[in-house]
Amino acid sequence: MRYISTRGQAPVLTFEQAMLTGLARDGGLYVPESIPTLSTDQIAAMAGQSYEEIAYTVMRPFIGDTFSDDQFRDLIAQAYAGFGHAARAPLVQLAPNHFLLELFHGPTLAFKDFAMKLIGQMFEAALTRSGDRVTIVGATSGDTGSAAIEAFRGLDAVDVFILYPHGRVSEVQRRQMTTPTESNVHAIAVDGDFDDCQAMVKDMFNDFQFREDVRLAGVNSINWGRVLAQVVYYFSSAVSLGAPLREVSFTVPTGNFGDVFAGFIAKQMGLPIRDLVVATNTNDILHRTLETGAYTKGTVTPTISPSMDIQVSSNFERALFYAYGQDGAAVAGQMDDLKRGGFTVSQGAIDALRETYKSGRASEQETSDAITAYVRDHGELLCPHTAVGTHVAEAHLGTTPMVTLATAHPAKFPAAVERATGIHPPLPPRMADLYDRDERITRAAHDLPAIQKIIKDRIAT
Ligand SMILES: *Cc1c(COP(=O)(O)O)cnc(C)c1O
Repeated sequence: MRYISTRGQAPVLTFEQAMLTGLARDGGLYVPESIPTLSTDQIAAMAGQSYEEIAYTVMRPFIGDTFSDDQFRDLIAQAYAGFGHAARAPLVQLAPNHFLLELFHGPTLAFKDFAMKLIGQMFEAALTRSGDRVTIVGATSGDTGSAAIEAFRGLDAVDVFILYPHGRVSEVQRRQMTTPTESNVHAIAVDGDFDDCQAMVKDMFNDFQFREDVRLAGVNSINWGRVLAQVVYYFSSAVSLGAPLREVSFTVPTGNFGDVFAGFIAKQMGLPIRDLVVATNTNDILHRTLETGAYTKGTVTPTISPSMDIQVSSNFERALFYAYGQDGAAVAGQMDDLKRGGFTVSQGAIDALRETYKSGRASEQETSDAITAYVRDHGELLCPHTAVGTHVAEAHLGTTPMVTLATAHPAKFPAAVERATGIHPPLPPRMADLYDRDERITRAAHDLPAIQKIIKDRIAT
């Protein structure tokens, strides 16, 4: 299995290289040269299997010879061993044809643990074999960073630096990043918003000298390994609901488009997915793009679902690549236009996108009202991101079972949940002492050279 860039100008890589590299040298994102498919029989055989077994079947065709079969099984087992639920991604029924896929039973209480814990294991295994060491730099709106720090803390072959927007992450998210004591993990509070942090990380990757000097590696949602890990729970949940004999739809609370794009891959692999519904908060660039065909950058408005406060949605480039019939030059052209403020998707490409993706948006009031209503009517306490999902999903319920992805635990965003319900959501017992641990924070200005210097100084010691 070989990996190509969405912009068509970067070296073709193996799975291992694509995973360790993150962003391609032409500024594009890596995608598999072709998407493998699973037969109806292979999908049917997943019924009743463990999450780990399904994960192996779904991901094995993508990894080539990077790991042996036994080692790959082992890495999957290690990745999910620390989860607080035996099913890993359990389904809960909300209404006759509406289900919640609980993706928050990992160590940092958000779905990003599914990808990050596996990436951590795969990085350590690959680097230990080659004797290399890398520096991971990532930007986060809160959940990616905590998941990365949790997944990589204490590993030998990796230093991790996470840039987060100062004052714009929840206290639980911040504490999950700032309280680990291992010397290989560093949380940097940047004066700026998430897009500023993400842009600086992109700039570091495009600074080839720096990239070489610190042996830069990325685990942001652009990393192909992360997208791949997220494909698995589309299979596990759809099979529980009767796939491959029955179609299933999904509503996905979306920011960087990584999670919902994983659903597209599942569909291409042969899973009978009817609709993939993109659910956004008031930062609705994706919803607007699907409605109008015009992708124009606005400014980020802080919301109660901060992990979706995004105006530049990096993985959308992958969706565009397939919508343009895998034409890297067309994607590169649109991304150049984006630097100047925006672009218009061609008619053919927007038709292709609308074929796969539906969309909707939830205002702050609608999000909060959904949290209130779901406790009252369904007995479920939702995090604000999940509530964006259920609000949007309701407009798309029909005869096909709808699965809304519950992307975080309500205790990760306690203020918004308490305001909407009067209930203070408690942390699971395994992390109840989070508020008592000491924090370690580095403050930094929105200044690329200054942050590059912090990174160089820290890895030198
Ligand atoms: C990251 C995140 C999202 C958005 O996921 P994308 O893959 O960026 O679309 C939604 N909800 C929560 C809780 C998140 O942490």
